[in-house]
Amino acid sequence: MTALHVDLAALTANLDRVRSTVAPAELMLVVKDDAYGHGLEPVVRTAAAAGVRWFGAFDVRTGAAVRAVLGDGPRIFAWIAASRDDLDAAIAADLDLGIGDAGLLEELVDAARAAHATVRVHLKIDTGLHRNGVRPEAWPAFVRRAAQLQTDGIIDVVGVWSHIAEASNAEDDDARAVFERALGEAGAAGIHPSVRHLAASAASFVRPEFRYDMVRVGAFCYGIRSAGGPSAEASGLRPIARWDAAVTGVAEDGVQVAVGALHGLPSALEGARVGSPAGARRLTAIGDTHSVVETWPGAAACDTVTIFGAGARGEGSSTDLAELIGTIGEEIAVRVSPQVPRIYEG
Ligand SMILES: *Cc1c(COP(=O)(O)O)cnc(C)c1O
Repeated sequence: MTALHVDLAALTANLDRVRSTVAPAELMLVVKDDAYGHGLEPVVRTAAAAGVRWFGAFDVRTGAAVRAVLGDGPRIFAWIAASRDDLDAAIAADLDLGIGDAGLLEELVDAARAAHATVRVHLKIDTGLHRNGVRPEAWPAFVRRAAQLQTDGIIDVVGVWSHIAEASNAEDDDARAVFERALGEAGAAGIHPSVRHLAASAASFVRPEFRYDMVRVGAFCYGIRSAGGPSAEASGLRPIARWDAAVTGVAEDGVQVAVGALHGLPSALEGARVGSPAGARRLTAIGDTHSVVETWPGAAACDTVTIFGAGARGEGSSTDLAELIGTIGEEIAVRVSPQVPRIYEG
């Protein structure tokens, strides 16, 4: 049948591998976009059972969903709060909040006072990506204000952080220099965060000096390698998801399967390699709800074709597919429609 099979034992193995690689830095497992399309609840339950203590939620709604699944204990970081409602919801769910805007910090003061809460915050410096974050020239005043609010008991500044492109070493080095300066200025203002975090998947593996106290890793935990990055084998990680498509018709000129563009298979992937019982075959056509694959001897209606996976049937990984159309592996994974059932194994 057509399904996204998610191997939770493989997730646990990847988490162990990532954690041993980055130790003594802590792992924050990033679970945005429904855990990169794998399903939030089973992923966070498995990770918590494996000992993961930090979760990266992106938005407050996702953070609150993680809290509802796991209860008290784990630290849950959300860094996209856009409104007072978001701030109130974040405080109610006891989230750690990423704050990268002086105006939002003042709104948080109101929200914290109203809730009689001390809110854990991670201050964000813009190190060059220009995706929120306080600009370096505004940073000294920002951290002085945060220090005063900490003295007043309104916030607890537990973190200083930023996000980097991980596209070139030189750019990342420049970003890290800005980050170092920001840490120094925070210290001068009396802020000494216990968690400094900068790296995502790629830098956390290959650039130890980017790990600081914690790394925020999504893709690698799901076994999605970075585009152009080291192979899965080289990094010791394997894809935890396998997308199978049911055969719905067999003809001489091709086998029809029950996935198409409406299920999240980009139509630009015509010609891509997929897996079959007889090994690698080409996708020759992608329609809205069905697609066509090169046939194989003995093809039958009870067979399946594997769109992406760990390679056991000749298929490529989600990153192999992504590279054909100039995107990244997680884009392919998160596009798999919620209509495709998720089946959990392991
Ligand atoms: C998505 C995201 C990550 C995780 O990136 P990966 O490359 O998937 O490991 C880390 N930090 C932030 C701010 C993100 O948005």
